[in-house]
Amino acid sequence: MADYARFLEAAREAVTLSSGVCRQVQAALDEVRAITKDDKSPVTVADFASQAVVARVLSDRLGDVVLVGEEDSKFLREPDHSPHLEAVTAAVREVFDDVDSDAVLELIDIGAGDTHHAGFWTLDPIDGTKGFLRGQQYAIALAYVERGTPVVGAMGCPNLPADFGKPLDEPDPRGTVYVAIKGDGAGEYAGDSSTPTTVRRHDLDPNDPIGVCGSVEQGHTNMSDEDRILEHIVANTDHAVREPVRIDSQCKYAVTGRGQADAYLRLPTRPGYVERIWDHAAGALIASEADCYVTDIFGNQLDFGHGRGLEKNKGVVCAPPRVHGLMIGAIEALGIQPA
Ligand code: AMP
Ligand code: MG
Repeated sequence: MADYARFLEAAREAVTLSSGVCRQVQAALDEVRAITKDDKSPVTVADFASQAVVARVLSDRLGDVVLVGEEDSKFLREPDHSPHLEAVTAAVREVFDDVDSDAVLELIDIGAGDTHHAGFWTLDPIDGTKGFLRGQQYAIALAYVERGTPVVGAMGCPNLPADFGKPLDEPDPRGTVYVAIKGDGAGEYAGDSSTPTTVRRHDLDPNDPIGVCGSVEQGHTNMSDEDRILEHIVANTDHAVREPVRIDSQCKYAVTGRGQADAYLRLPTRPGYVERIWDHAAGALIASEADCYVTDIFGNQLDFGHGRGLEKNKGVVCAPPRVHGLMIGAIEALGIQPA
């Protein structure tokens, strides 16, 4: 069996260093420009720098690794894009001053691993790039997946306050890092603290109000289905519901796992969309180790054993057991299906 504790230390160091680099990129630029990828999603200098930093830390600490990252170096290798490559190299050099542009390209390409291995790492170097561009929530999400199940996860949330009293739509100067090993529970590091606190949530009582969280982006979750689910619960139970919290990225798994929201709903918006493994592996492990159930909208476990996509699943429902049951029951009663 792999040494999960050693894997976790490497993963935590990787996302912590990368969080610092992402912060610096954000602080250094008045406006971080987005490059539009072929699939029309945005990517920034920080996405590439983050992937390079994580690849470097994992390789330094663990030797040869299989890493399935969201980004690749194709864009940066085009001669016209050399200013971008220089900016990415400068960002990586903030933490590794021995690298040049060629080394950065090679590091990014470590993330070109494939999923046909009994164990592999998967990385979203900046999950919620749109949140990053708005100066709101985003995450550096890294997980080790073994035979279809995430077993080690680390998630840097550079703008997420540990303190529930602080607003979620404003960047926190300290941020948080979440970690989990399957079967060992989940932990939170607030700011640059070196000691974790346990993350474990309680379930709701039948009279407690329910607050869900979901994407900011209308294209990523079906908000009218979300309304129908909440109306159904109000009509059929003693629960009241609170206004949903809208935040980008896998921070939603952390916010649900730590008890600030009572469910993370990701309801399919368009036919055929397949969730990417790096959008869920780290967050789903952290939330389930904090005593949430994490399934798709039909109540099936997320299955990370089918390549780069969650081919066997549709959407996500993450919540403590009672609330999870209510959500799945409402989805079934309303006949909500992927569009
Ligand atoms: P969030 O920040 O939770 O809104 O999710 C951001 C992620 O949504 C990105 O990393 C994309 O991979 C993913 N995404 C892109 N298009 C869709 C879609 N149609 N449905 C669900 N997720 C999507
Ligand atoms: Mg993502």
